[in-house]
Amino acid sequence: MDVTVGRVLFTEEQIRAKAKEVAAQINEDYKGESLYLVGTLRGALVWMADIMKEITLDTEIDFIVASSYKGTESTGVVTVKKDVEGDVAGKNVIIIEDIVDTGTTLYKLLDYFRGRGAKSVEICSMLSKPSRRKAPVEPKYNGFVIDDLFVIGYGLDYDQRFRNLPFVGVAELR
Ligand code: 5GP
Repeated sequence: MDVTVGRVLFTEEQIRAKAKEVAAQINEDYKGESLYLVGTLRGALVWMADIMKEITLDTEIDFIVASSYKGTESTGVVTVKKDVEGDVAGKNVIIIEDIVDTGTTLYKLLDYFRGRGAKSVEICSMLSKPSRRKAPVEPKYNGFVIDDLFVIGYGLDYDQRFRNLPFVGVAELR
């Protein structure tokens, strides 16, 4: 079985325009405050670059690697494989995510940052699949809502490939 790129869902132009819109909202909501952006590697890399360039506030960036092992339907065990390097206590953390699927990973990460004394914790995702949600997580900032499709490109992979595609497309199994 191999995977190829099916139809394009969002072009680079569409995603960058959306990042501008989303970042403008963040600039407005956090006026006068500073931000601590935490990107989830590796998928959020490209979206994060688009978002951070549009942020006009005093901003630090950091990265986290979390993986979710979904042994059963209801319990996803999330492990942090690479932690943030800075101290998030008292900071306005915005987790930058590629896609919110079941929400399991972010549910744990929200807890993780709140437990470390962040002043606030929100999510800024490029894509969201609400029909797949299992954990009560909704990103405050989101680019596009999509159906239950497996997508690749713009940071998103299939078996570590396709992250470099300059658009989001549907993965097609051959
Ligand atoms: P969740 O904990 O929300 O179920 O998992 C979110 C993670 O699953 C995302 O950060 C991403 O790595 C992966 N994921 C979920 N849906 C897709 C998809 O359609 N395409 C790709 N490439 N990864 C996905």
